[in-house]
Amino acid sequence: MVIYDEKQQEIAEKINPKAIISNWKDWKWQLKNSIKDISTFERLTGIKFEKKKRALLEQTVAKFPLSITPYYLSLIDTTDYKNDPFFLQSFPSPSELIVEKYDMIDPLSEDRDSPVTGIIHRYPDRVLFHISNICSMYCRHCTRKRKVGDIDSIPGKDDIAKGIEYIRNTPVVRDVLLSGGDPFMLSDNYLDWILTELQKIPHVEVIRIGTRMPVVLPYRITNELVAMLKKHHPLWINTHFNHPRAITDSSIEALRKLADAGIPLGNQTVLLAGVNDCPRIMKRLVHRLVQNRVRPYYLYQCDLSEGLSHFRTPVGKGIEIMESLIGHTSGFAVPTYVIDAPGGGGKIPVMPNYLISWSTNKVVLRNYEGVITTYKEPDSYEPIFCDRNCKSCKLQLKLDGAEEKHAIGIEKLLSDYDDAISLIPENNDRMDRRSERKDYE
Ligand SMILES: *Cc1c(COP(=O)(O)O)cnc(C)c1O
Ligand code: SF4
Repeated sequence: MVIYDEKQQEIAEKINPKAIISNWKDWKWQLKNSIKDISTFERLTGIKFEKKKRALLEQTVAKFPLSITPYYLSLIDTTDYKNDPFFLQSFPSPSELIVEKYDMIDPLSEDRDSPVTGIIHRYPDRVLFHISNICSMYCRHCTRKRKVGDIDSIPGKDDIAKGIEYIRNTPVVRDVLLSGGDPFMLSDNYLDWILTELQKIPHVEVIRIGTRMPVVLPYRITNELVAMLKKHHPLWINTHFNHPRAITDSSIEALRKLADAGIPLGNQTVLLAGVNDCPRIMKRLVHRLVQNRVRPYYLYQCDLSEGLSHFRTPVGKGIEIMESLIGHTSGFAVPTYVIDAPGGGGKIPVMPNYLISWSTNKVVLRNYEGVITTYKEPDSYEPIFCDRNCKSCKLQLKLDGAEEKHAIGIEKLLSDYDDAISLIPENNDRMDRRSERKDYE
């Protein structure tokens, strides 16, 4: 019986001597035989941990669950496992038990932005909807690692119905991002129901699904799943490749099926120390992605969740990587580097600086090669002062359903139709002193 490659065959036979290729490629077989404890990992890989290390590993698994699909296990190079990117992403490290001063259980304050169970409504026009709480492989670098894998909090059908109800009653929501856990842990029928219900809502313009299946269990992308997804356009999918070696023949096949179904594919990478904190690895990754019709979308700075300190790089590493990509390779192969703001401020893009200086007549720019150049500002630009009275404006905004809402944040400071001249944080001492001074009242 030849399964795929020698390593996959060896693992499959250790799981079940009678395993055949159709077992290996069956996502349910993969799930049923996922590695969930240290002993099974040792048995299948031949790697042995000494007693003291083992005790620490057990302690780590008790805090953050372990699960590795046999497929993902087969990617690990056991001859140099300590430095292997797949080992590092999937196998617990006692460093996860380290709690640093700035670590947080919920660094993105998802709980505070959650109007109903499972929904995070942080941005004006879109929501994150957690429809699953489990994954086939638990990423050691998961932002939600204190929550994901907790079988007591798997959302029930009631919770999901309430989430859908919230979206139905909240007309500003035009984009729904299904997340988890991994949404593809749900059955095709159940997902079909969720997608159908969401699409009945007139103000929902697009639906996105975030899944790591093409990376950790590509056999989940079956023809049946894809046929079902295809009924729900416009549907976008984002996946999570962190290393070019994860783009295997099986992943390529999964990505091809999704792309052939007309689903635009994006990728979110997390910058991880010891895994991909290298401009050459990142460049190889983005090239492999676009070759397979996947657009690099975000590069995330590793956040401040508890148990991730060993994965964090300085922000400077991310800037260095962006410097090595912008201009050096195809524009659509370059992701946006973001830091998810602790406290729930959302994603903040960060970049090297290209605008060096400016005067009223010229701006001074530098390019990726270090060439310094100037751009002459126009002499005859007629500014448009917008009072939001579109009827008397010479620009022709004659679109139905064009954005009606007023500006917020910095957009508001820049706008002509709002009198705001500054944004002042709450509890500003100086402002408190002002309000105490009676002589100004
Ligand atoms: C990332 C995220 C989104 C989607 O953000 P985009 O920049 O539109 O991809 C929406 N809601 C929450 C809470 C998020 O963290
Ligand atoms: S090393 Fe790269 S692949 Fe490794 S370390 Fe430095 S440039 Fe790289």
